[in-house]
Amino acid sequence: MNERYSRQVLFPGIGKEGQAKISRKHVLIIGAGALGSGSAEVLTRAGVGKLTIVDRDYVEASNLQRQQLYTEEDVAEKLPKAAAAEKRLKAINSDVKIISIIGDATPELLEDLVVGVDVMLDATDNFETRMAMNDVSQKYKIPWIYGACVGSYGMSFSMIPGKTPCLNCLLRTIPLQGMTCDTGGIISPAVQMVIAHQTAEALKMLVEDWESVRTSFVSFDLWRNQYTSMKMSKAKFPGCLSCGEERNYPFLDHENMTKTTVLCGRDTVQIRPSIKGELSLDRLAGQLNSLGYTVNGNPYLLSVEMGEERMVIFQDGRALIHGTKDLTHAKSIYQRILG
Ligand SMILES: [Zn+2]
Repeated sequence: MNERYSRQVLFPGIGKEGQAKISRKHVLIIGAGALGSGSAEVLTRAGVGKLTIVDRDYVEASNLQRQQLYTEEDVAEKLPKAAAAEKRLKAINSDVKIISIIGDATPELLEDLVVGVDVMLDATDNFETRMAMNDVSQKYKIPWIYGACVGSYGMSFSMIPGKTPCLNCLLRTIPLQGMTCDTGGIISPAVQMVIAHQTAEALKMLVEDWESVRTSFVSFDLWRNQYTSMKMSKAKFPGCLSCGEERNYPFLDHENMTKTTVLCGRDTVQIRPSIKGELSLDRLAGQLNSLGYTVNGNPYLLSVEMGEERMVIFQDGRALIHGTKDLTHAKSIYQRILG
C-alpha cells in the first residue's frame, strides 16, 4: 500500500479495501469557490480516482480570505477558478485525474457531466443550480451532498436517491432559498465546518459505508455556539416532482434556465449566449483595441474596461458585467461588444 495514504488506511472506517474503492471513484464538484476549493483539496489528498470541478467565475482578491486553493498570483492573472484549481490540485496529488470545466453548470452540462460519477458535491452559490443538481441526482440515481454557509452559519444534508428525501422535499419543511446569497459576509471557519461535513459524507459514500451516512439535516452557528441535527425521515413527500411517483424533474427543463442573472451578493450580471459556440478571444481583443477599449486577459478570458462597468468575456461567449445589477443595462453593454 502506498505510504501516502497510510494514515487513512489505518483508520478502521476506510482500511485497505476502502482506499482501493476511493481510488476507483469519480467525484463531481459543482462550484470552485470556498466550499468547492476546500472539498476538492480534501478529496484530492484522500486519493479519489477522478475529480471533475466546474466553475463559471475567476479568482478575485476578495476570494483569498477563504478560498484555500488560490493565491495572489491567480488574482493578478485573473485565472478562472476552475483552471487555477486544476493547477493547484495536480500539484497536490498527481495520482488524481483532475478535470476542470470553465462554465455555468446548466442542466444540460450537468446531464453531460454526471455520466460515470459516483458522488456529487454541492459547492454552488445559487438555488437554481442546486435544484438542477437535485433533479440530476434523482434521474441518474447519484447521491449528492448539499452544503451552504453564510456568516458563521452553515448546513449540510446527504441525499441518496430512493432512500432519503430530496432537496425539493426538504423545501416543504426548511426555508432554504434564503440561504443562497452571501450578502452578509462570511468567516472561513464556517466554510471549513461545512467542508468537513460534506467530505466526511463523501468518504463514507466512496467506501460504500451507506449505514454510516448521516440521515439528519445538520446546521450550526459557530459564533453563537449552536449545533442542531434534525431528523428528516418523515420529510419525504410522495407527491414530490423530483423524487415522487409522478416525477417530471422540473428543474431540468432547459427553457426554465434564465440566460441573464444577477450574481449572488455582487454588483455583477451574468449573460449566457443563446447559441453555443467558441469565441476567438485574440481576434475580439484586437477588434476592441482598435475601437479604443482597454482590454487585458489571459488564454481563458478577456477583461474590458468600459467606464463605470467592466466586462469579462469567456471563450464560450458567456460574460460577466461588473458594476451593475440592472439586467437591461447589462444586456445593452453585452450587445454593444458582442453584437
Ligand atoms: Zn423529493
